[in-house]
Amino acid sequence: MDKAGLLDLIQTKREAERKREAVRSSFIAASPRVNGGAITGMAVSDLQLLFSLYDAIFFNSYFTGSFAGSITFSLSTRMSRSAGKIIYPRNLKGLPPDQEKYELRLGLTLFFDYYRLSREKKVNGIYTRDALEAFLLVFEHELCHLIELHLFRQSNCQKQRFKSLAYNLFGHTESYHQLPTSREIAAEQFNLNIGDRVAFTVENHNLEGIINNINKRATVMVPDHNGDYRDARGRRYTKWYVPLPSLKKK
Ligand SMILES: [Zn+2]
Repeated sequence: MDKAGLLDLIQTKREAERKREAVRSSFIAASPRVNGGAITGMAVSDLQLLFSLYDAIFFNSYFTGSFAGSITFSLSTRMSRSAGKIIYPRNLKGLPPDQEKYELRLGLTLFFDYYRLSREKKVNGIYTRDALEAFLLVFEHELCHLIELHLFRQSNCQKQRFKSLAYNLFGHTESYHQLPTSREIAAEQFNLNIGDRVAFTVENHNLEGIINNINKRATVMVPDHNGDYRDARGRRYTKWYVPLPSLKKK
């Protein structure tokens, strides 16, 4: 199949679902780390495996057979709100096919946290039944970016061309995820929000401050005459990263 053939890969939502199930069961069978719907760990080799399954099952092995550039994969536990991203050279437009370079990076935090809230979780407009299905849908979203970049050297998932591509290939009807973020989990499970006054203990000292940010931990600004941080009114603070269960709301 040649490059233009990628645009002719049009399937119904039903077919896409069937193929996604085929990817899923082959992945579970082959991955040493993922053996069901929950995700507790992944390695870069799992992403390579997933990519080869998608290539065979969805893309007629286009990437194995005809793609001249390079695709690498990476995992992050620091991405807190986006679940995946694609990294590519700034000068992609002028590069010859054999120098096209893409890196697909998947964040794991959102999938580790998948079960912490029991509400429904849609990804790309599709209801997910478990963390693995959410992961596959996020992976597919990044694959759409990869294909759009490969074909057109630019990509924007808010625009119509991307949306058509994502619908035709995978049946996606939206370009975003509704997975629980650390911030939402903090609000739901610990009743903690940005701006809240909180207390915590460090080496037997009781400290009190204001939550300034919430990612995996809360960022708490504690008033301190010798602190390194200053607000607009000149008051000084020290900054602490505190696990959510260790905070008491005042
Ligand atoms: Zn996107």
